[in-house]
Amino acid sequence: MSATLSNQVSQEKILTGDRATGQLHLGHYVGSLQQRVQLQHQYHQTILVADMQGLTDNGHNPKKVSSNILNVVADYLAVGIDPALTTICLQSAIPALAELSMFYSNLVSISRLERNPTVKNEIKSKDFGRSIPAGFLTYPISQAADITAFNATLIPVGDDQLPMIEQTNEIVRKLNSIANKPILKECKPLLSPVSRLPSTDGKNKMSKSMGNAILLSATEREIKQAVRAMYTDPGHLQIEDPGKVEGNVVFTYLDAFYPDKVYVEELKAQYRAGGLGDGKTKAILESCLQELIQPIRQRREKLMSDKGQLVEVLKTGTERAKDETGDVLNRVKNAFGLKLF
Ligand code: ATP
Ligand code: MG
Repeated sequence: MSATLSNQVSQEKILTGDRATGQLHLGHYVGSLQQRVQLQHQYHQTILVADMQGLTDNGHNPKKVSSNILNVVADYLAVGIDPALTTICLQSAIPALAELSMFYSNLVSISRLERNPTVKNEIKSKDFGRSIPAGFLTYPISQAADITAFNATLIPVGDDQLPMIEQTNEIVRKLNSIANKPILKECKPLLSPVSRLPSTDGKNKMSKSMGNAILLSATEREIKQAVRAMYTDPGHLQIEDPGKVEGNVVFTYLDAFYPDKVYVEELKAQYRAGGLGDGKTKAILESCLQELIQPIRQRREKLMSDKGQLVEVLKTGTERAKDETGDVLNRVKNAFGLKLF
């Protein structure tokens, strides 16, 4: 029997999402997607395709966002997120999210936004100089709008996103104190099991915008090449030499993706002792990744061949989301004494 919404037992609501700035990759798979596929059976889960947030650093290049909306939806469906269980919706098509952001922006100071450690780091790495888009500096406010609009209390995040939860709860507390009653719920993080899968060279986090990712649409050849080029232990020259497992990207990936954890521990012990070559560990990893990605790639190709169907999925989810968000917007307007009719 297939699962239905009535199987969702928890009262907690989940809100999560991705910027529509590129195709999703293996980092997303272990960092969030796999978990979402599990969570949808237990929780009321909403996934936002964050196109407006994608624009906050791509205003000059909106095509990067618009051309990736359906890519992200296809990635979701291809990994097993089920639109019958999870509301998949488009941020820009839900007016309450923008309206709430405007209301909330009156409760947050510029200096508070500038102190947000995640935003601070991103501003540095994106080289904005003095030209930080206002939308970028204020995106934590828009995330607070997204979370509260759906009454979400459980937010799956990587550890880099914890400051966003803090900012959201500050806004919630301010509003509740203005309203003099608890009109909004505070939320808590649900930390992801792998929050920073490294790129294959081990230098950075795998990321859409750095061009260092193994995509969920990667071909057999691309997977083979990526694994072949993977960073291992530069001191491990001969097969019989003892090798280092820490910082060795092949083992980081085996830990993240190989289903038999006992076998991975045996491999590590053998590698440390000497006698296990990088060719062998890479071959094991490659076949594991080929097996993982092949069905996703095939489902994805099929999904992308019917874009009308993808738009339909997004539209249905967005309609459901619009119905859900009106109530919170009314409560917030009421708190400010602005709900005359
Ligand atoms: P961009 O380069 O546009 O910032 P990205 O690849 O970093 O894209 P995001 O959309 O910013 O992807 O990430 C959304 C969420 O996906 C993160 O908060 C995190 O939970 C998860 N995620 C992204 N990259 C990784 C990674 N390398 N390892 C684990 N999780 C990841
Ligand atoms: Mg990112």
